[in-house]
Amino acid sequence: MQKLWDAVIVGAGPAGASCAVWLRHLGLDPLLLEATDRIGGLAARNPFADIWTVTSPNQTGVQVADQIARQVRAAGVDTWFDSQVRSIGRRSDSFEVRLQRGEHEPMAVVAKTLVLATGVRPRELPGHEGKQYSGVIVGPGEQIMGTNFAGSSVALLGGGDNAFENYEFVKERGARVAHIYARTVRAQKQFVDRVPASDLITGSVTVDPVSQTVNGHPYDWILVLYGWQPNIDFLSGLSVALDARGFVQTDMQTTQTSADAVYAIGEVAQRMHPCVPTAMADGVVAAKAIEARLTNKT
Ligand SMILES: Cc1cc2nc3c(=O)[nH]c(=O)nc-3n(C[C@H](O)[C@H](O)[C@H](O)COP(=O)(O)OP(=O)(O)OC[C@H]3O[C@@H](n4cnc5c(N)ncnc54)[C@H](O)[C@@H]3O)c2cc1C
Repeated sequence: MQKLWDAVIVGAGPAGASCAVWLRHLGLDPLLLEATDRIGGLAARNPFADIWTVTSPNQTGVQVADQIARQVRAAGVDTWFDSQVRSIGRRSDSFEVRLQRGEHEPMAVVAKTLVLATGVRPRELPGHEGKQYSGVIVGPGEQIMGTNFAGSSVALLGGGDNAFENYEFVKERGARVAHIYARTVRAQKQFVDRVPASDLITGSVTVDPVSQTVNGHPYDWILVLYGWQPNIDFLSGLSVALDARGFVQTDMQTTQTSADAVYAIGEVAQRMHPCVPTAMADGVVAAKAIEARLTNKT
């Protein structure tokens, strides 16, 4: 007979890992599914030192991810890597989670509850989704870190914190010219105040990734920092309500979505300011709600 897991958690970033560890310590039997070969999600791809989190001062995202992975292993969480969830079906009192595990044939696991912890991916240039262009980098993180900007001209697209933080980064790395193109500025005031007015261009933006021009000006590098979109492509079989920006809506007390026994945590739900601590906190809230549900403590 097929095993019935207490919870299948989709995504082993900080949110999913935290939920899995808590469920294990609460005496339940979760399965953690991760599309890549590592734990940590976006944190595992963040080479920068974290100055914000009091429990891991100045650790890089990669170090934080390694620590999370150690905790998952120590708790004895069943974790399947290279396991991309493709779709989900609801049975009368369980879920069938269909996945592609490595090179194996597609398979399915069954669970009493489902936790969506699939995070986000960077928004691409509108009209150019799925395409790659030399000189164009989409999203913050290791690719920017690994690029030599010395003496180059850089256009940063976006009005959020990432555009302004990476402006400082490319300038520190010797960029000759750096311009931020923002339709509207949403970044923290402290970041905005550090950018000379001549380097901030607001209003409409026209980008041609082939000729590497922005508003007709050529650049060596174009960094697309247009924010994030949730990883929910596999969700169509479940009727889960989304908010106006396309993120999964959840109940603040429990993290449950509009679908019974389906929980959403971390950046896929964007319940609170997105970062490692809030993602982990979400994981705790979901674990406690699932424990209450499965042990009739509600
Ligand atoms: C450059 C950068 C710097 C940052 N700096 C900081 C910082 O200093 N401090 C801080 O606290 N936070 C920082 N963050 C943010 C932090 O990394 C995220 O908020 C956090 O990782 C979100 O956790 P999550 O678990 O919600 O999602 P994610 O970390 O995105 O994890 C989601 C996981 O789900 C997996 N997944 C997706 N779809 C599927 C599927 N269909 N099947 C199976 N698995 C799937 C993904 O592979 C991924 O591992 C930074 C992020 C970046 C990119």
